[in-house]
Amino acid sequence: MRGYINIPGSVNCNCCKICGARPIIVLIKDIGYVVKCPVDDNHYKTHAGLIDINDWNIHNTDCINHEEEKLIFSFH
Ligand SMILES: [Zn+2]
Repeated sequence: MRGYINIPGSVNCNCCKICGARPIIVLIKDIGYVVKCPVDDNHYKTHAGLIDINDWNIHNTDCINHEEEKLIFSFH
């Protein structure tokens, strides 16, 4: 059984460095919490256990805004 939690806006966390999505916290029964990208399981996710937003942030430092990037490239 699985459930997920949206991270409150007051929590300082980076967006996914691949797609720019805000991460979610997923509870996996008997294993623990994983902080992951809601878009794709192949994007970064933390190891199951305690909620580790710090680990997520370390691995997603180059946070991009995908919409803005698309606008920039559309000028070329
Ligand atoms: Zn992503």
